[in-house]
Amino acid sequence: MDECGKYHLGCRLMRMLTFIDLPIRKKFRLFSVGVLFWFLTMGGLTIVGMIGISMHYDRIVNNAVPQDKVVQKVIRNLQAMTIDASNILKAEEVQTINRLQDLSFKRLRDIRDFISVLALGGEVNDYSHDSARLLETLQTTSLSNDPAGVMFLKELTILVDVIDKSYSEFYASKLMVIQGERSNGSNLDQCFTRVAGQIHEASQLSVDFSARLGQLYHISAEKIYEIVRLTVIAILVVLFLAIMLLLVFTRWISAALARPISRIINQIYSVGTGDVDLTNKIEINSQDEIGVLSQEFNKLLDTVYSMSMFKRVIEEDTDLVDVYTRIAEVFQREAQIDDFVIYEVKDNQREMFPVYPATLSGKEMACDNEILINCDLCRAKKTGHEISSVAYPNICKMFKMETGKKHVCLPLIIGGRTGGVVQFMFEPEVESADIQRRIFKAETYIKQSLSVIEAKRLMAVLRESSLKDPLTGLYNRRFLQDHANFILSGVLRRKKSLGLVMCDLDYFKEVNDNYGHDVGDQILKETSELIKNSLRSEDIAIRFGGEEFFVMLMDINPGDAIEVAEKIRKVFDGHLFKVPGGTIQKTLSLGVSEFPTDAEGFWQCIKFADVALYRAKDTGRNQAVRFTPEMWTENQF
Ligand code: GH3
Ligand code: MG
Ligand code: MG
Repeated sequence: MDECGKYHLGCRLMRMLTFIDLPIRKKFRLFSVGVLFWFLTMGGLTIVGMIGISMHYDRIVNNAVPQDKVVQKVIRNLQAMTIDASNILKAEEVQTINRLQDLSFKRLRDIRDFISVLALGGEVNDYSHDSARLLETLQTTSLSNDPAGVMFLKELTILVDVIDKSYSEFYASKLMVIQGERSNGSNLDQCFTRVAGQIHEASQLSVDFSARLGQLYHISAEKIYEIVRLTVIAILVVLFLAIMLLLVFTRWISAALARPISRIINQIYSVGTGDVDLTNKIEINSQDEIGVLSQEFNKLLDTVYSMSMFKRVIEEDTDLVDVYTRIAEVFQREAQIDDFVIYEVKDNQREMFPVYPATLSGKEMACDNEILINCDLCRAKKTGHEISSVAYPNICKMFKMETGKKHVCLPLIIGGRTGGVVQFMFEPEVESADIQRRIFKAETYIKQSLSVIEAKRLMAVLRESSLKDPLTGLYNRRFLQDHANFILSGVLRRKKSLGLVMCDLDYFKEVNDNYGHDVGDQILKETSELIKNSLRSEDIAIRFGGEEFFVMLMDINPGDAIEVAEKIRKVFDGHLFKVPGGTIQKTLSLGVSEFPTDAEGFWQCIKFADVALYRAKDTGRNQAVRFTPEMWTENQF
């Protein structure tokens, strides 16, 4: 079923039959309806069987049996009448004859009563003819619905009338014989034979009818047996079908529920132990709650996967700029937000600046530029809380209302204080719920990246401090070692030259000797400022040794370095350093070389600048000397 195509007709039918796409509650409701249907079918079959049985039972118990009982009474009375008649025939005394005659008429009357109750239905009392004691009360239904019964009653009534008449004649001729009219003897015999024959005929009629009732009884009994047999077979068949279908449906439904749930449990277990293939999705086979659960679980896995991948990637990024770029990517890709700015708050907690997009200028910002130099004006920075114009329009005065956009600003809480702010902006028509959903997603990624940003910023600070000279704030020699390749490759790529100037204060030792080390330090600080101020922003000044400074002039044209060196020298020449009790003047000697003009090796070029510095010291100090190749041959020891 799992492999079955969704749009195939047979498959659609199968899906419908197995309730696969129905909500779980409906599934069970239909299942119960199915069970109920089978119970009702079995109940219905039983009731139909019972009705059939009861109909036939009724025919036997209420009709055939009581009717037969009455017919049997008729037969017994007729038989008794035959005996009475033969007794009359043999009797010698008038008294006996009269008694027997009387008895026979009573019997005839009873027979008429029985016929009448058989015709109309109802009750009839059966009395003993000897003692007049009530033997029993017979209750029967009418035979009027049975044509054979009606015919029987009709014939019997005629016969009874005939018997009545013949019996009277027989009695009369017997009396005559007793009274001595012997000539009537043959007549008496004739009368007896006639009446006995008529009684026999009536008896035979009744016995036949009784047999017919017995036959009806037998047929009904057979029908009852047949109905019981059929009902039992039908119930067994229904029971078998119901059990089979219930088994199949129970298996289908339980499999449809249990299989995906156990897969989800396995995945959860694997997530817990860390041994999980997050790309291994749960197959979605149904559109019920289980299908939705699988789908949502897959989405959750996706989120967990992309979140863990995201964290791993940004942890491996060396540069904070790369981290911000990746955060920006997930804002766009996962949270579907394109309009946003990431600000970083400087360590001094006074200034902030946009780090993404890095090229954003003050003019393009949606906030007043003031926040850049006084970042506490930024409400999100100051409060450390989410600031949303969705909930409160005009919440932040720094946001330029004329942009017409909605904004949500989230502080980046790093090391217990606001280390940055992310400002998300939305067009006014975007729904609040939609904004909330996207912000929630963005926030989960922000939370993942906070610890990484903190670690990277700390690393940057540490690296910066290890690369800088604490006294002058200039880069140190280690910086040069770390970054030389990067600097050189840029210069070479741009097909420019790098000017190298080695500077050394003349007779600096005297300062220490005359004014002490602290004044010496102060002069070194001032010297670094003077050198920096003589350079362009892209040039790099390094404190190379004690009172030795090294300057890299970026992207110069060949031959220009000496002019810059001369400019620095002149700045010094006219400068007065404050010392206790007045001012002093110091001069600077400078050695100049150029990379790659003087040598292919960078460190070789530095050496050449040093050689030129020696030449400047040797030839009178307070001068800038451009390295020439003959200086190196002179000093190659
Ligand atoms: P010249 O370079 O002209 O040959 O003479 P100089 O007196 O400058 O000679 P040298 O380069 O040999 O001496 C450098 C002096 O700089 C030695 C040391 O006392 C001083 N110095 C080096 N580092 C520092 C520092 O950090 N602070 C102070 N106050 N002095 C330093
Ligand atoms: Mg020196
Ligand atoms: Mg010196």
